[in-house]
Amino acid sequence: MTETEVRERVRSLLQKIHPDDPGATAVDFRGVQFDHGLAFASYPEGLGGLGLSPKMQSIVNDELQQNAKTFYENLAINPIGIGMGAPVLLTYGKDEGKREMLRRIFTGEDIWCQLFSEPSAGSDVAGLSSRAVRNGDDWVVNGQKVWTTLAHVSKWGMLVTRTDPDVPKHDGLSYFLLDMESPGVECRPLYQITGEAEFNEVFLNDVRIPHSRMLGEEGQGWRVAITTLMNERSALGGGASRKGGGPVSLLLKLLQESKVSRSKVEQALLEDRITRLYIRAEMLRLTTLRARATQRSGNPGPEGSVGKVAQSELYQQVWETCIDVLGEDGLIYELGYELRRPGDITSLRSGNDDDETRRLQAKYQLLRSQANTIEGGTSEIMRNILGERVLGLPGEPRVDKNIAWKDVPRG
Ligand SMILES: Cc1cc2nc3c(=O)[nH]c(=O)nc-3n(C[C@H](O)[C@H](O)[C@H](O)COP(=O)(O)OP(=O)(O)OC[C@H]3O[C@@H](n4cnc5c(N)ncnc54)[C@H](O)[C@@H]3O)c2cc1C
Repeated sequence: MTETEVRERVRSLLQKIHPDDPGATAVDFRGVQFDHGLAFASYPEGLGGLGLSPKMQSIVNDELQQNAKTFYENLAINPIGIGMGAPVLLTYGKDEGKREMLRRIFTGEDIWCQLFSEPSAGSDVAGLSSRAVRNGDDWVVNGQKVWTTLAHVSKWGMLVTRTDPDVPKHDGLSYFLLDMESPGVECRPLYQITGEAEFNEVFLNDVRIPHSRMLGEEGQGWRVAITTLMNERSALGGGASRKGGGPVSLLLKLLQESKVSRSKVEQALLEDRITRLYIRAEMLRLTTLRARATQRSGNPGPEGSVGKVAQSELYQQVWETCIDVLGEDGLIYELGYELRRPGDITSLRSGNDDDETRRLQAKYQLLRSQANTIEGGTSEIMRNILGERVLGLPGEPRVDKNIAWKDVPRG
């Protein structure tokens, strides 16, 4: 399909259903978008795609943005389901029920979460200690997960757990789709610097999972986990879709609206700093486009870590500069710190385009962006991956590589 044909297909979708149609919900619209093959353009026909090159998805999004006043953002609807669950399901899922699950991910009817990190296993997630033991046609899981974003509203969790402690850590893991409504799954909120509880502790007490819900083979969970993580990093490092878009555009608007009095020199230095950030944002956008153009199909590789580390560090600096532009007003956090669940934040992220919303967004994002260099793998871990897997530098010493997990000394 050519670019023109893809754009025509989007227009035919909008003739069938439009986000502004009376009574049409995001779920209705996105369901029809999926059926048109415009949800995941590179996926096979029937599974939400048309078998196109991955870069065609940005043509779809662009056309939707231009012609539909309401554009539903994937990352606001089901970030983990769309960014990670869908590609993992496409790669490792069994045919039975796959289409329906992918459709419900895209519409946001089923929210997904990622049950990887544990209290003593974050960067070293392969060292995790939750356990699954086979019992007839089921596995029985016990353990604790932590930092599990959206677990409290999720239908499905991507769970990595240990099924064999007698082999080295990477070889004894298996990967399951866990129905989060199963007996024995308990979520407790964790409170963040923004005042929200976006993530949770998840306790698994004798949770039964049918063997048929294992993705990949027994003991191959690490492979499936890597596919998940590569997609996560790629989703977290996508950059803005338009030149001058994303956080930098908010920074520019705040500068235009600023009433803070500055000397000529202060103003010139601030503008110089913002120009540098703008240039870096544009480099990130072009690098992402180039990476997408070379990726013909399938899952992203370690180069996704380039975008992840570049974007997370850049955006932190952009939000810090926004606060500097706001001056003293930047020190007041009107949203408050009482514990709340995300939902409020969604309206803030895609809220009104007025100066009041922009001020609040900048203040909220300065706090939220501190997590960007931790979530999905810290910047230190991203640099290790880049050094070893992209640049081919010597690896870190790994003393537990050939030892059975149960024999690795731990505190
Ligand atoms: C907002 C947010 C959402 C999250 N959502 C999820 C989720 O949905 N599901 C999930 O499973 N997890 C989630 N996480 C957890 C996240 O993946 C981990 O926090 C992250 O991988 C780091 O692990 P850790 O917190 O245990 O830190 P640690 O691994 O203990 O790291 C501590 C410090 O040591 C450094 N370090 C560790 N090892 C090395 C090394 N080999 N070389 C150099 N430096 C090193 C780290 O960079 C870091 O600075 C989330 C985290 C955040 C902040």
